[in-house]
Amino acid sequence: APLIEIKDISFEYEETKALDNISMKVEKGDFLAILGPNGSGKSTLLKIMLGLIKPSKGSIKLFGVDSKNFKHREWIGYVSQKSNSFNSGFPATVKEVVAGGLAKKAGLFRRLPKTVDEDVLEAMKSVGMEAFLDRSISELSGGQQQRVFIARALVAKPKMLILDEPTVGIDHQNVQAFYDMLAALNREKNITLVMVTHDVDTVTDRISHVACLNQTIHFHGFKEQFQT
Ligand code: ADP
Ligand code: ADP
Repeated sequence: APLIEIKDISFEYEETKALDNISMKVEKGDFLAILGPNGSGKSTLLKIMLGLIKPSKGSIKLFGVDSKNFKHREWIGYVSQKSNSFNSGFPATVKEVVAGGLAKKAGLFRRLPKTVDEDVLEAMKSVGMEAFLDRSISELSGGQQQRVFIARALVAKPKMLILDEPTVGIDHQNVQAFYDMLAALNREKNITLVMVTHDVDTVTDRISHVACLNQTIHFHGFKEQFQT
């Protein structure tokens, strides 16, 4: 079954129609970019995938199961756009931040798994940040912080990651390397990736699929396309 299957969903915020009859699929192994102008419903679509809001019509299946009955939210990691707003003065080390992704999984009052150090190291290696474990998160660049937040999501061993505009806050010259890291995660660690992005030109040769909300974006180079 597809990891995500959305059929004919619509969503309204009071008067605003945010999504109108959208259908799409995410298959295992995909690296999907969701594109669209501001206000086209990208964030709303992610919130529906994450089960944070319910569509007013249509259906959504996660791993073949109706989202109402889906019991494995930990299979779907999420890195929000605002997660890199830890500002200066925040005292945590990178290791603590990444281990926080396990605390959430274990529940507040349960013990962390004994393998926590190994799991944190493995997650940090997969984002190319293993040299930074003992650094303070606040002294890292925007791009390094974003990699740490991805490691924080990966440490719980999700099958897929949903990323909301992951390159916001990354210096222009580091964006290519960041997408190379995501492409390697996708190919080598078999993490299915869904991301909202505006980096149309940069992502074309890394992604496997694209979904466009509103049909105002046209670009070349992707391998397959479905219109939502
Ligand atoms: P995008 O992420 O593509 O910018 P959004 O999903 O954030 O689009 O928004 C889609 C539409 O819904 C926009 O017109 C936006 O103004 C509106 N919208 C988003 N969130 C809310 C909200 N909480 N209340 C009312 N309108 C909203
Ligand atoms: P994003 O960049 O992820 O689309 P925004 O910065 O546009 O998010 O919006 C931040 C929050 O404000 C979101 O939770 C969104 O639902 C809400 N929001 C967006 N547009 C509106 C709106 N027109 N009215 C009320 N809330 C909105």
